[in-house]
Amino acid sequence: MGLSFPEGAKRRVTILGSTGSIGRNTIELIERDRSAFEVEALTAGSNYRQLAEQALRLRPALAVVADEGAYAGLRDALNGTGIEVAAGKQALVDAAQRPADWVMAAIVGAAGLEPTLTAIARGATVALANKECLVCAGELVTAAVRNNGAVLLPVDSEHNAIFQVFDFNRPESVDRIILTASGGPFRELTREEMRSVTREQALMHPNWEMGAKITIDSATMMNKGLELIEACHLFPVPEERVEILVHPQSVVHSLVAYRDGSVLAQLGAPDMRTPISLALAWPERMAVPDVRLDLASIGRLTFEPPDTERFPALALAREALQRGGSHPIVLNAANEVAVAAFLTGSARFLEIADIVGETLARVPHRPIEKIEDVIEVDIEARASASRLLRSTAAVG
Ligand code: NAD
Ligand code: MG
Repeated sequence: MGLSFPEGAKRRVTILGSTGSIGRNTIELIERDRSAFEVEALTAGSNYRQLAEQALRLRPALAVVADEGAYAGLRDALNGTGIEVAAGKQALVDAAQRPADWVMAAIVGAAGLEPTLTAIARGATVALANKECLVCAGELVTAAVRNNGAVLLPVDSEHNAIFQVFDFNRPESVDRIILTASGGPFRELTREEMRSVTREQALMHPNWEMGAKITIDSATMMNKGLELIEACHLFPVPEERVEILVHPQSVVHSLVAYRDGSVLAQLGAPDMRTPISLALAWPERMAVPDVRLDLASIGRLTFEPPDTERFPALALAREALQRGGSHPIVLNAANEVAVAAFLTGSARFLEIADIVGETLARVPHRPIEKIEDVIEVDIEARASASRLLRSTAAVG
């Protein structure tokens, strides 16, 4: 049976980042129940061909490509369909402004911040995959949610798990949050062995199929560091009570420990369609019968402590969170620059965390009060990380 929303109407949805891994999974779920959804807008970074193909199937009112150079291609591909087309950064913000009840924020990186905040500011229900938004501007984003009556539904699998088992009516009864981490493809390597890993090896995640940036973040474990910061903004638990636990099978998606000793967890197959569907149908649950957890065939679930010596990104992220202000913005920006350099072959794997650490040491700290502060620090940190990359390339 399909979904029927309480208001009896279709849910009107916008997908920011529709051509990415999260965006494509969201579309796959929407296409299972077309009677429940209408599509307001789809947006992509530069892949206008895939965006046009999605638009022809889903018939949104608007399709937007961030890269202005892709405008003509998108316009020609959708000519005569009645689907409005636009390009550029402002067009992304305008897309988020359009009247959709539900917005999937699935752009990767700080580039998603302004469109996501725009959807929040008009009180939409926002399914948040774009964790970098919360890392850079957690206080501003959560204040905007409260002030505008928006609803934030975490899509990141760990936060989606916590969202399902956290007793929001009795937060004082929560002792701690335990975020699980797969440990990535290099979980068992020494630092020496990590020195020579390739892009292809780093892109081979053992459990999850994801976009390139988050896959590299999983290999450095910066992903878990970003998720630690994300968790502290989403849930009323202080940093020292958020633990990280390595769980290589990615079946227990996270846990909440209560003060009486009870520990509640959410389990599922490592398939993003489960957390996306929870947000898409919320507060209902949609049928996703082809995603099934078969514990008997998995047989064994294992757990181990994280190793911050081999994965220094974890310690850098925790420290940036503790120091607050501009530090998490610098952490994120430097990481985006370093990961992009690794993906294009101009930085080695271990240099990613080095660049982040060094950029954090160089960019002066400042308090953050408004979105313009976030953007300024982001730009400054990117410039600083890029200079470092050029100087290390020159020596080594
Ligand atoms: P992806 O690289 O597959 O897709 C990113 C999307 O953003 C694409 O549609 C791309 O066109 C668009 N985009 C990229 N740069 C842009 C720019 N400058 N302006 C506008 N649009 C731009 O990434 P993904 O794996 O789908 O991840 C998206 C977000 O969700 C990330 O923040 C990631 O950390 C988070 N996330 C992803 C997963 C996953 O399983 N893929 C799980 C948890 C969280
Ligand atoms: Mg995650």
